Amino acid sequence: MKNTTTERRNERGSKNIPTTDSTPPTDFIRQVIEEDLKTNRYGGRVHTRFPPEPNGYLHIGHAKAICIDFGIAEDYGGLCNLRFDDTNPIKEESEYVEAIKEDVRWLGFDWGDREFYASDYFEQLYEYAVQLIKKGKAYVCDLSPDEIREYRGTITERGKDSPYRNRSIEENLDLFERMRAGEFEEGSHVLRAKIDMTHPNLLMRDPIMYRIIHATHHRTGDKWCIYPTYDFAHGQSDSIEGITHSLCSLEFEVHRPLYDWYLDALEIYHPQQIEFARLNLSHTVLRKRRLRPLVEEGYVSGWDDPRMPTLSGLRRRGCPPEAIRDFCNRTGIAKSDNLVDISLLEYCVRQDLNKRAPRVMAVLNPLRVVIDNYPEDKVEELDADNNPEDPSMGTRKIPFSRVIYIEREDFMEDPPKKYFRLAPGREVRLKHAYYITCVDVVKDERTGEVIELHCTYDPESRGGWAPDGRKVRGTLHWVSAIHSLEAEVRLYDHLFVKADPEDVEEGSDFKAALNPNSLETLTSCRVEPSLAGAAPGSRYQFLRKGYFCVDPDSTDGKLVFNRTVSLRDTWAKIQKAQKNS
Ligand code: ATP
Ligand code: MG
Repeated sequence: MKNTTTERRNERGSKNIPTTDSTPPTDFIRQVIEEDLKTNRYGGRVHTRFPPEPNGYLHIGHAKAICIDFGIAEDYGGLCNLRFDDTNPIKEESEYVEAIKEDVRWLGFDWGDREFYASDYFEQLYEYAVQLIKKGKAYVCDLSPDEIREYRGTITERGKDSPYRNRSIEENLDLFERMRAGEFEEGSHVLRAKIDMTHPNLLMRDPIMYRIIHATHHRTGDKWCIYPTYDFAHGQSDSIEGITHSLCSLEFEVHRPLYDWYLDALEIYHPQQIEFARLNLSHTVLRKRRLRPLVEEGYVSGWDDPRMPTLSGLRRRGCPPEAIRDFCNRTGIAKSDNLVDISLLEYCVRQDLNKRAPRVMAVLNPLRVVIDNYPEDKVEELDADNNPEDPSMGTRKIPFSRVIYIEREDFMEDPPKKYFRLAPGREVRLKHAYYITCVDVVKDERTGEVIELHCTYDPESRGGWAPDGRKVRGTLHWVSAIHSLEAEVRLYDHLFVKADPEDVEEGSDFKAALNPNSLETLTSCRVEPSLAGAAPGSRYQFLRKGYFCVDPDSTDGKLVFNRTVSLRDTWAKIQKAQKNS
């Protein structure tokens, strides 16, 4: 058990959490927990839970919650349960359950054998409801949904009591049992807590505990036709599992009085609910009800489209889970909502991949270059380091031959000042290879487009260094034409052009801010032969071009790469601007 920040940090440093170099700061949740440990409030235990509703795929906002729930438990030698909050049979599916488990595991967290479902507690929750009826604290109400809304009142207007509020305990018990038995239609009866119809918090105005839903549940099948609401299920599930600190996002703050009321009324073990600010990320949306239409209306290719902020999308894009955890830690635990710039996430991804991703050469827009004085049939195997940041990653051989490809943008016929790449008569270095000089330019007769360059090479400059010490300003990446492999490369940009797509005028659609250029597909790229057979999910740095990840769409004949991030660090720029302002 750790009681001080210093001890915790030391402990964390020694733990096997890859590349998390941002120590989580002491935050208000950890302060509460440390106080509870001091006063022995929960017998020295720390037990949290992550409670996803299986009605969609997890996004990076959930990763934030996961890092908090699992991360805090881990820091204090405690436990974190995975609990599916599956109280709504209409929107939930087993497909989502499996995807959620995969994502949590992928992030690097382990719930051991503590995989629970709110639906496992349906019988117990029913018993609790019966207890509240017996205590005179719950009643069956026959008002229609519209009437219930009407009777509830508003923030400025008190609610009024339901005419069914004072039913006898016997009548309530009988009706509730018959609700369960399936005697009634949907919407005809609900079970409500008897609290206070004049309470300033609308959620406390006789909230609904059970409603009738004649639908098949993904786990309990047709056993039930009454289902507990989130509010009635959540705190009681926490209590059953012996959760100590029930951590959730800020929108549940107004639910806390109700959370406490049920546990107090039932006189059962009482965990503490604590709320933290949601993660909001710029240039994207982080709500399932926003993400779903993007998938269903075909704006993206699926939940795992690499432009999506879902964990499956980020995974396919090539973001390492360690970088996502690092990002979640860096953004801290706040008490009020804010918007985090997406460039911070990109920065974390770059930091991580810079250390780990092997460097390779890939030409995205190939321009053919013939080296006139290089022998026709000669092939040399040149040495190239796999990562200058980490010599232990070793070297590999790359073939060099008479015809190579360079990047189209690395040649200009009439270069402006400060353009140090290839131009007529200019000498540049080919990375890991030779100095070459451009001697001729071949153009398409009709269009005038440059279609081929002729160069000469200096045989003395093997490895990319001239023995006479003569300097060149430009170093280009390249691939050997006959040895290189064809590839498709997908370049991604922000999904939305607006930093906060939800910030739209009443009545207009957030989808209007979708970026029409969020995907650019390049189909005739050439990559070095060492990439043959690269497995989906493998990540590389393409020299000078960014970080890329092999997509599952790859076939034996053609590799497909997703650009994870470019090499441009806009986060550093933002920070500099902030410092100067
Ligand atoms: P969405 O709004 O995307 O539908 P949700 O809150 O309804 O999300 P749940 O499956 O109910 O999704 O969420 C599981 C947990 O994740 C909850 O404890 C919730 O507080 C937390 N969570 C969801 N979104 C975020 C976010 N953006 N930042 C931090 N925590 C989040
Ligand atoms: Mg929810």
